[in-house]
Amino acid sequence: MEKGESVCGEYTYEGNRMHFYMVPLDVNGWYLFCANKVWGSSASLGDALTIFGVLMTLMLILMNVLLYSGRRVFSQNIKTLIRLAYEDPITGAKNTAHFDESFQQILETKQPFSTVALNVHNFKGINDLFGRMRGDRVLCYMENVLNHNLKEGEFFCRDTADLFYLLLLDTDEESIKKRLAVIIEQIRASSLEYGEFSYDLSLYAGVAIGEEREKALLAMQSIEHTHHTDIAFYNHDMHNAVRKKNSIESQMYPALQNKEFKLFLQPKFGMKNEGLVGAEALVRWQNPDGSYRYPNEFIPLFEENGFCLKLDLYMVERACEQIKAWKDAGLTPVPISVNQSKMLFSDLNYPDNLMQILNRYQVSPSLITLEILEGVATDNLELLNHQIEALHALGFRISMDDFGNGYSSLNMLYQLNIDELKLDRGFLRQVSKEDEERRYIILEQIVSFARKLGIATVAEGIETQEDEALIQALKCNFGQGYFYDKPMSAKEFSQRYMKKDEK
Ligand code: C2E
Ligand code: MG
Ligand code: MG
Repeated sequence: MEKGESVCGEYTYEGNRMHFYMVPLDVNGWYLFCANKVWGSSASLGDALTIFGVLMTLMLILMNVLLYSGRRVFSQNIKTLIRLAYEDPITGAKNTAHFDESFQQILETKQPFSTVALNVHNFKGINDLFGRMRGDRVLCYMENVLNHNLKEGEFFCRDTADLFYLLLLDTDEESIKKRLAVIIEQIRASSLEYGEFSYDLSLYAGVAIGEEREKALLAMQSIEHTHHTDIAFYNHDMHNAVRKKNSIESQMYPALQNKEFKLFLQPKFGMKNEGLVGAEALVRWQNPDGSYRYPNEFIPLFEENGFCLKLDLYMVERACEQIKAWKDAGLTPVPISVNQSKMLFSDLNYPDNLMQILNRYQVSPSLITLEILEGVATDNLELLNHQIEALHALGFRISMDDFGNGYSSLNMLYQLNIDELKLDRGFLRQVSKEDEERRYIILEQIVSFARKLGIATVAEGIETQEDEALIQALKCNFGQGYFYDKPMSAKEFSQRYMKKDEK
């Protein structure tokens, strides 16, 4: 302090060790005195450092352990994820994502290849009959057989249900056929051998040489409903058919909105010189250039995709509109028969929906005949009868169309309370002399049964004088066909048949 320097040191105060520090202020010889309590002793500082070091080491070890086990769980999860992403859980086969990746590699190597789509006929039936577990087992046999039959570099996957895709390095039709025949046979055999259920599996396949798997699928779908061939090769017509289908499906809703579906009418005549007794409504799809598309180009598709539900009611509406127009013009309307898809009959609101349309145009149900296709009756007779009763109660007439084409059954004549039977025009097709006699006997009986049951008969497709003579002899009630007139636009029909002085 005498030298005027800073001083530092230690002292004990009330049992606490203190550090102090004194700095001269150069004013009046004053010093600034700073004192601070020491944190532990230097010995305990050393201890603290040791404890700290040990703790840090332990923490590092713990962190390493955590990191290591985390990595293991992570990599296990990644493996599971990869398995889930690339493997089918039922059979253990690879899935389409994996197939498509491997397929890209094949494309890059420019190796020749074929894709195959393989399926079991009526797999759903197997599931329904024998249960899902057995169904799954069939899938496992398929996986097993495929696994053993593919060569180096070839691969396969399971898509959904019973659909498998294969990539083969063969491109020759004959050798592909042979290999697939072996695969199909082995799957059938193994399912019989181990399957403990006696169901003879039937498989079918589509092949696309040098094309992606979607084209093999198209080929496969082309023989879905045939049982006489089990292998089909892709060709461009299949592609065009699908393109056409897609194009129709993309156009149908706008077409309905733009009223492109037109009402055509074909007259129906009484066979006892009663003249015109009614008309059948037949849809025509008018293209923007004025040309027409015919029902066989789109009705089967609409039946499949459900659009018929809308179109058929739309046609009922057009028929009602026409009947109202005749009434408004002071003409006596003739009944119109409208073709109705079988799907409508399973909708319990169908009678109400019809009545809403008829009421809008103030048309009596007695002026509308609903033509149902014969095939409809084989589905659910009870529901159909229930609907027919409901429709009868409202005043509609029910006609069974195309009788004799398909699963005709005389049973239906007494099981269903119909008003009219339309004999399929196939009955009038040219046949040999011998067959002609047999046909006559059958037709005569059908017409006679119908008459006795109070069901009117209409012969369709009368094209010649001879056709007419035949149905006259059979005592059919009504006739319809090109011999009398073709289907025509509602306007033309009105001009030709709906004259005031005719009635
Ligand atoms: P369909 O109800 O049996 O109609 C009779 C079909 O025979 C009509 O064919 C008609 O043009 C044709 N045809 C009439 N007279 C003769 C003839 O003398 N000879 C020959 N060879 N054919 C004759 P179209 O108009 O092509 O209709 C075919 C089928 O499409 C109809 O058969 C019907 O099942 C269905 N269809 C037509 N319009 C509709 C509709 O609005 N809704 C539904 N769901 N189906 C419809
Ligand atoms: Mg018809
Ligand atoms: Mg018909």
